[in-house]
Amino acid sequence: MATVISYGAAGVVTGSCHLFSIEGGPNILIDCGMFQGQEEDLNYSSFDFDPSQIDYLLVTHAHLDHVGRIPKLVKEGFAGIIYATDATQDLTEIILLDSAKIMKEDYETNYRKAQRRGKEDDIVEPLYEEIDVEAAFDLTWHHPEYDQPFTLEKGITVTYRNAGHILGSAFIEIAYQEHGVEQTIVFSGDIGNDNDMVLPDLEKCTHADYLYVESTYGDRDHQNAETSITEFKRIIIDTLNNWGNVLIPSFAIERTQEILCILKEMHHRKELPECKIFLDSPMATRATEVYRNHSDLLSQECQDIKKRDGTIFDFEDLVYTLDVKASKAINDVDRRAIIIAGSGMCTGGRILHHFKNRLWNRKNAVIFIGYQAVGTLGRHIVDGARWVKIYHEDILIRASVHTVNSFSAHADQSAIVRWISQIEGLHRVFLIHGEEDKQVILRSVLKNALHQKAHIVEPEEVIYL
Ligand SMILES: [Zn+2]
Repeated sequence: MATVISYGAAGVVTGSCHLFSIEGGPNILIDCGMFQGQEEDLNYSSFDFDPSQIDYLLVTHAHLDHVGRIPKLVKEGFAGIIYATDATQDLTEIILLDSAKIMKEDYETNYRKAQRRGKEDDIVEPLYEEIDVEAAFDLTWHHPEYDQPFTLEKGITVTYRNAGHILGSAFIEIAYQEHGVEQTIVFSGDIGNDNDMVLPDLEKCTHADYLYVESTYGDRDHQNAETSITEFKRIIIDTLNNWGNVLIPSFAIERTQEILCILKEMHHRKELPECKIFLDSPMATRATEVYRNHSDLLSQECQDIKKRDGTIFDFEDLVYTLDVKASKAINDVDRRAIIIAGSGMCTGGRILHHFKNRLWNRKNAVIFIGYQAVGTLGRHIVDGARWVKIYHEDILIRASVHTVNSFSAHADQSAIVRWISQIEGLHRVFLIHGEEDKQVILRSVLKNALHQKAHIVEPEEVIYL
């Protein structure tokens, strides 16, 4: 009998980690992500399985909540084979090195603070270091191509299909034999939003017996994409025409590349007033380079832009600022600048410097394009804070604050239901990667719309297939 146990992303959104075991066969782990936000402390407990007993790790995509504990897995004994698309491996390397760097910086800051109080023994060591990230890349990585089934072991065939979520993302189909009968289980990873300008749409899943599906937005539909993009453009044009500056806190992967594409097209159509655009994020710059290197995986729209201009993410007036000196020089531009910088939720990174220098000016605008978690500076500002503390200084917010919501890289409720409705032969659906209240709503929508029963997976619950 085959079983699945979810060691993360069960009842919560983060920490994706599912162990699929076939009786007398291999142990296959699907993703090994980091817990984030309120669940962060869970990262520091040992795995509730033996990493040395895992034969294969199948990675769906490079977001931290799907790959963030891979170095820990390796540190604790995993020595198997890793499967990820080529683009996913490239992005994973950027993500994990950045994560190790942030943990090291946080540790050093906390250690200094604790040392002053004589309590340095209380400080938790980083989850892993750069050297552990390198060890993960010393293992064997295979790069499946989309829609090309491959044999994992005798009787087990795996197919990666385009999930349209971020570059290289996949949902994974595993076909295996059970008492001579072929069964197929599909792990959705995160599935994409059809309105993404940069990536092709989520691929159809035609057949599955069992489905593990994400439910991040299981309770709602996104704002209409066209209306949101029109609104996004209007804020930019109005602010620049009024001699102000636009600040866009952005996630390094996917969101940034989409914004760059929109701005490039505005520039091409002469909709953009004369301005300077700065991508002030070394990580987003590196991620954009990976997008360039894998441009064959991008949408038809991007292919057309490349054919027209020879490049997808570059145009005059767009500056990639790499070093700190170039970043500081942005301060000298007092009007008509668009500054895109991380971190996406304003918990660190260069966006803080730009906020400090520009939030006080009523001519400026801030556009939030991603989800802002409770407790982050971004959320505080979105919720209407008048004053914020940045680098020990109180800053009065006079800039206008906007939220444009349609840039989500996740499928919304209608898209999830539509995707599931196309799957033939489905016996059982398991909901993962979502908050419980949202999963309850999705479960009842699936029952009413598709007469499909769905089970909300509990952490470490053993599911017998
Ligand atoms: Zn994701």
